[in-house]
Amino acid sequence: MLQIYNTLSRQKEYFRPLHEGRVGMYVCGPTVYGDAHLGHARPAITFDLLFRYLQFLGYKVRYVRNITDVGHLEHDADEGEDKIAKKARLEQLEPMEVVQYYTNRYHHDMEALNVLPPSIEPHASGHIIEQIAFVQRILDHGYAYISNGSVYMDVEKYAKDFPYGKLSGRNLEDIVTDTRELDGQDEKKHSYDFALWKKAAPEHIMHWPSPWSEGFPGWHMECSTMGTKYLGEEFDIHGGGMDLMFPHHEAEIAQSCAALGHESVHYWMHNNMITIAGKKMGKSYNNFITLQQFFNGDHHLLTKPFSPMTIRFFILMAHYRSTVDFSSEALEAAEKGFARLQEAYTRLQKIQPADKTTVEIGDLRNKCQDAMDDDLNSPMVLQALFDSARAINTIYDQKASISSEDLDELRKVWKDYAIDILGLRLGDEMANDKSQMSNKMSAFNGAVDLLLDIRLDAKRNKDWATSDKIRNNLTELGFQIKDTKDGYEWTL
Ligand SMILES: [Zn+2]
Repeated sequence: MLQIYNTLSRQKEYFRPLHEGRVGMYVCGPTVYGDAHLGHARPAITFDLLFRYLQFLGYKVRYVRNITDVGHLEHDADEGEDKIAKKARLEQLEPMEVVQYYTNRYHHDMEALNVLPPSIEPHASGHIIEQIAFVQRILDHGYAYISNGSVYMDVEKYAKDFPYGKLSGRNLEDIVTDTRELDGQDEKKHSYDFALWKKAAPEHIMHWPSPWSEGFPGWHMECSTMGTKYLGEEFDIHGGGMDLMFPHHEAEIAQSCAALGHESVHYWMHNNMITIAGKKMGKSYNNFITLQQFFNGDHHLLTKPFSPMTIRFFILMAHYRSTVDFSSEALEAAEKGFARLQEAYTRLQKIQPADKTTVEIGDLRNKCQDAMDDDLNSPMVLQALFDSARAINTIYDQKASISSEDLDELRKVWKDYAIDILGLRLGDEMANDKSQMSNKMSAFNGAVDLLLDIRLDAKRNKDWATSDKIRNNLTELGFQIKDTKDGYEWTL
């Protein structure tokens, strides 16, 4: 039976869905104002693993992952410019052009990483009416106040009736000392009160009418609203990165309790961070490497390009609740590990069955299932697959044999766990891999250069027959060759 670590109880719990056979899960998605980096790949892959495993177990899963396209200010504490509006101003674009551009690129990166699309991907800007209604419910219940056209959560009042800070383990005193004094704080009763609705400054380009002001929702509001809209007032799982636990998820809990009178989420799950030289990788730390840079090798910290599958494998090599420290060397090691797995998978398809099995193939299916049931222990699944790879290699080298029945089962387990659950593209599927394509392209370019170098030597040796043959045949294939002072140029 599946156990998952619930951040609320700080322990592993057996997963029992609210409705038999069905699971509702909500994961905080990207704020679309820049390219996705390695830090974004981690929650996407972690909750893709969960989504895939729940479906493998036979659950009908409704997976909601939002797109934040309004209201996420530069400082998480309600202040500063809207991240998307700022980008739009700098690039002289409509905010929704910025949103569309980065949403498309996010989808593209996720597809490369073999992250399945969620069942619903709601945009915050498409749910303003619902968010206004949610804020109104909190006001009606007396847990919020209006100040200068903005609406703030009355955290002190709320904390008298509900435990504020229970997810992150903070109390109000810690929060007071942690909260920076920023502009606009004078609108609030207390520095820890957070905005449910913000009145837009005159220069602010994204705003909507509301009963309180022309403005926009606070960042935390969209997740409470869209989670309960699509999954119900109570639902099973809410996920996200550990960095969202406070203030974002704590605020979500407070909003839901204040509006609905009870909590919405049964299991809170948080993936740990990716660090780079021990520091969290993130846009605000300016130490991030985008996924595209990984795929192209275009960053000074990278020794070479890394395929999306190497990135996926690298992330799955660690348990989602451990930190992962990035380095180019660690990625090179992951690349080798992934190649070993690919080789074993390819060999597994080629093996011929014999009368009986003479190698220890172990209880691979149970090992994989036990590992996944133990809070999605992907490194243990990979370990079991590597053990199995050793047996596969022994059979492939004809030092042992396998019966037809055992071979079928072995192939099924690899298909179930390596391909369907871990989501690794092995075997033929690797042809889809972008970096494999770029490797092929560079080999192709090198081969054409080699031919033209040979032609250059032939010309110097006055071997006109060879020189003409290379030129004519390449031209026939569609190449245009231009002789230059230093040698040649070519295009296809
Ligand atoms: Zn969220």
